[in-house]
Amino acid sequence: MSAQILDGKAIAAQTRAAVKAQVAARLGAGGRAPGLAVVLVGENPASQVYVRNKRKACAEVGFHSEQHALPATTSQAELEGLIDRLNADPLIDGILVQLPLPTHLDTEAITERILPTKDVDGFHPYNLGRLALRMPLLRPCTPKGVMTMLARTGQDLAGLDAVIIGQSNIVGRPMALELLAARCTITVCHSRTRDLAGKVRGADLLVAAMGRARFVPGDWIKPGALVIDVGINRDADGTLVGDLDYGPCAERAAWITPVPGGVGPMTIACLLENTLQAAQLHGARPDGE
Ligand code: NAD
Repeated sequence: MSAQILDGKAIAAQTRAAVKAQVAARLGAGGRAPGLAVVLVGENPASQVYVRNKRKACAEVGFHSEQHALPATTSQAELEGLIDRLNADPLIDGILVQLPLPTHLDTEAITERILPTKDVDGFHPYNLGRLALRMPLLRPCTPKGVMTMLARTGQDLAGLDAVIIGQSNIVGRPMALELLAARCTITVCHSRTRDLAGKVRGADLLVAAMGRARFVPGDWIKPGALVIDVGINRDADGTLVGDLDYGPCAERAAWITPVPGGVGPMTIACLLENTLQAAQLHGARPDGE
């Protein structure tokens, strides 16, 4: 068997085009452009690239976007003051604080400071709680992107045995909640899991989100499984690779996502969707009417 490839680049382009069309319709009806504020603290080079890509994507679909680049020495009070101003700004629908923050800052407190209806990353406890209760509002972008890709396979997910490797707050946990809502039976694995190979071998659906280059070998994959690789790692020679040993895994899976060009592009596309959704929650006019 050789897997069909879930082309994240193509699906993300379709998602962005749909957002762009909805923004145009909104503007045509006299509404305002959805607004995203991106907050970057310090000079982490990877974060700078992510922020640039997010702003570029915003421009492409017709969003208003603004960047707040703060020095690494920014205090908790200064950052919270900025969040408060953005929470009150009627032209801003989404607030994204690029992580990781410098270690002297309290990330949880900043996440909770963002108004839940402007939390377009979906990281606020309110939004994760709603997802847990099967009444989602703004959903974390990467797991949401994975669900969009899985929908493209046309497979019924109900009843599948799903294994997620990774339990982080931004990927593994919300991924488990998404798949549980889709009526899969969930196993969440992490660094203390016993017999990881045995658990993965039973998976009809595997999501690898551990951040270990080429960790999952082909013979762990159940023949015919749906296989999603969230990992983004650099190989010893600098090549971008996922958490799967891709070639051998693709030999056994029915569907698989490549790295790059799989889940990665979906994450930004879902951020755009979330920002549009937040704008719809806030109303079309700057006064929220
Ligand atoms: P993280 O480091 O916060 O979490 C990694 C998880 O993997 C942990 O729960 C850990 O227990 C588990 N893990 C690590 N080694 C393991 C092992 N040997 N066996 C079993 N479990 C193990 O990372 P994260 O933020 O969740 O990101 C995971 C990966 O996904 C990274 O490569 C990251 O770059 C990538 N990522 C990609 C996107 C995207 O858009 N494609 C978005 C976010 C993260």
